Amino acid sequence: MKLGIGARITALFGLGALVLSILMGGLSYFTTRHFLLAGRETAAQHQAFANAVLVRSELQGGNTHYVSLLASIDAGTDAHSVLYHQSKSYVSSLSVNGSSIPRKLRKVVLGGKAPTQTYRTAQGVAEIAVGVPVPSVHAAYFEVFDLSDLDHTLRVLGLTLFGAGAVTTLLGISLGRFASARSLRPLADVSRAAGAIAGGELDTRLDPDAADPDLEGLTISFNAMVDQLQERIEREARFNSDVSHELRSPLTTLAASLEVLERDREDLPPRSQRALQLLSDDLRRFQRMVADLLEMSRADAGSVDVFLEEVSVSELVQRSVVAGFGHMDGHGHGAPPEVRIDPVVQSWRVGVDKRRFERVMVNLMENAAHYGGGVTEIAVGPGEAEHVEVTVDDAGPGIDPQERAKVFERFYRGSASGRRGAGTGTGLGLALVAEHMHAMQGDVRVESSPGGGARFVLSLPVLSEDDDPEGAA
Ligand code: ADP
Repeated sequence: MKLGIGARITALFGLGALVLSILMGGLSYFTTRHFLLAGRETAAQHQAFANAVLVRSELQGGNTHYVSLLASIDAGTDAHSVLYHQSKSYVSSLSVNGSSIPRKLRKVVLGGKAPTQTYRTAQGVAEIAVGVPVPSVHAAYFEVFDLSDLDHTLRVLGLTLFGAGAVTTLLGISLGRFASARSLRPLADVSRAAGAIAGGELDTRLDPDAADPDLEGLTISFNAMVDQLQERIEREARFNSDVSHELRSPLTTLAASLEVLERDREDLPPRSQRALQLLSDDLRRFQRMVADLLEMSRADAGSVDVFLEEVSVSELVQRSVVAGFGHMDGHGHGAPPEVRIDPVVQSWRVGVDKRRFERVMVNLMENAAHYGGGVTEIAVGPGEAEHVEVTVDDAGPGIDPQERAKVFERFYRGSASGRRGAGTGTGLGLALVAEHMHAMQGDVRVESSPGGGARFVLSLPVLSEDDDPEGAA
């Protein structure tokens, strides 16, 4: 798994703080321990040597009451004395005995040296033992000091340092989070702006005054890039609409002339009549294409001229179907299809551009008539995530799953166009439907209808009570 920049910065800060606190904590702990222990050792050695001198003089003086001698030495201290004399050990209290002294220490002392050793007893008590040989009376004197208080002090110190280290590490992590959030904020601005631009808000720019001085270059080049992009898109849209406009008038002239010719069609020889028919079919298709292109370039020119109005979705669909049916291209015979409305959505409201929505319905109904043997049902029902869905079903062959995304592309004329309605399609109808739906914050997709034909699904966000449809635009 790859970690993001934010996570990496945070981890680095946390790790840095951890290493630092281990280093500092370890250094403080071991230095303190060293000095405290060294102090205790020196004090213990001084005391043991002084007492060994006392023991020696007592033994030389013929004192054989070893136990009471040791008791008098130990009185008032927290140390315990052990005396080895003629391979027997003597102690003053029950808390120590001959074997309390580590064997190695005993051996070294009996060998004539005076060592000091710190150790932990089997019960886990820390002790320091100092051994002093007393060769003149063939004895060895040991004094054992309890180190529990020092042990306790060191344990508290260790725990405190550990706690401080943990807090420091946590602080490091939060500092890392803060730093990464701060350093990534400008990037978040850039991605927000890029998202807005991708969503069609071409006049979005980064604010050069608000930008971090270190990122000035990025801000300037980002804005310059968007300027160029906007100019190019606008130029292309202008060009498209100019071309379509320019084509319209010669086409009108052509159509008018053709009409004159068609009036005298009977007088023409059969070959010329067929040519005339072909000419007029193609001219009609050409006119439609120019009209569609013009509409497309208007839709492209931006969502500027989207006038979203708040309307009841059930009324909208019913009216658009009836009005659209009247505007259908030569196929609006008979009665307009019925609209089935789910009672749940009866009172739902949507923000739409009515003119655009009617164009969408006309295009879908025309396609159903061309390729699907007519509309079988139009229904309005609830969709996912606060959306309402309008479905248009037909009884045709449907659309292949592989083709479903492509039919919304411009100039795409699918396999069905070869079978029926050939020659009339421009491949722009569904592209316009998608364009209009996106302009209204909606979407369109195609599925198969339960009857086997195609089902086009329009989805639109539902307005809640306090939504302002223009604000959503
Ligand atoms: P056209 O002007 O060719 O109708 P569209 O963009 O409206 O262009 O449709 C693109 C293609 O999608 C059509 O050529 C056709 O193959 C297919 N199509 C559209 N509607 C249907 C439908 N209701 N049933 C089957 N195929 C369809």
